Amino acid sequence: MQLFRLDDQIAFVTGAGSGIGQRIAIGLAEAGADVALFDLAASEAGLADTAGRIRALGRRALTLTGDVTQAADLAKAVDAVEAQLGELTVAVNCAGIANATAAEDLPEAQWQRTIDVNLTGVFLSAQAEARVMLPRQRGSIVNIASMSGSIVNRGLLQAHYNTSKAGVIHLTKSLAMEWADRGLRVNAISPGYTLTPMNLRPEVAEQRKIFERDTPLGRMATVDELVGPAVFLASAASSFCTGVDLIVDGGFVCW
Ligand code: NAP
Repeated sequence: MQLFRLDDQIAFVTGAGSGIGQRIAIGLAEAGADVALFDLAASEAGLADTAGRIRALGRRALTLTGDVTQAADLAKAVDAVEAQLGELTVAVNCAGIANATAAEDLPEAQWQRTIDVNLTGVFLSAQAEARVMLPRQRGSIVNIASMSGSIVNRGLLQAHYNTSKAGVIHLTKSLAMEWADRGLRVNAISPGYTLTPMNLRPEVAEQRKIFERDTPLGRMATVDELVGPAVFLASAASSFCTGVDLIVDGGFVCW
């Protein structure tokens, strides 16, 4: 299936040291891409693990540390990708945080940090990527949103998180429209409940069984199940898709 191949593509993945971002980065390499891996310095061990698994596939990997809330970190990282791997053609913006607090008690700083990382971080990432992709009129950007951007998770006190993800979905559509006539596609993936370190948070430990019960397919997603959607949106297989929010939730939002 040549349509889904990413041979000769250079990809950049944020949040690549853990969870969904790590698995998608490896999946892009499985499809043939060389991959630059960006995460916080605190995730250096995870980045090294991701890079090792990509190199074992015979693909090139570049690890880069920084913070998606810092435009300068992203600009430096994209420069490093172009200098060390080649022209950036695919980006997956996956870095994100989650936590829970009742809205009436939510400190403004916690609200702001969630918006800064999950929404502004995706905007700044896409901006840095587009600055090199737009002049070449070639590129595919995939933003990782969440089904929480479309629905409110029963029992989870995370108005700040849900709002940030709703913002990512509309940001994706807005950027897709701004850049559609310059060869750049922008799409989102909205995962449902997925088995990653994020769901090992103490506040959701008790809820994992409820997540499984409430998901029509009767279980949580594995990170492997995000690879197909990401490769699809990154590759020529989705060449007429832009502004799409691809919901990968085991049917959750239908109920
Ligand atoms: P994860 O395992 O915690 O991975 C997120 C990665 O992003 C971590 O390596 C984290 O680093 C990094 N990160 C956090 N803040 C950052 C920043 N400011 N700059 C750069 N990197 C940063 O989480 P995940 O479950 O894979 O989630 C990945 C994405 O999928 C998130 O956007 C999340 O909202 C979304 N999502 C997850 C689920 C789910 O059920 N897991 C469902 C829907 C959507 P540290 O570990 O060092 O903080």
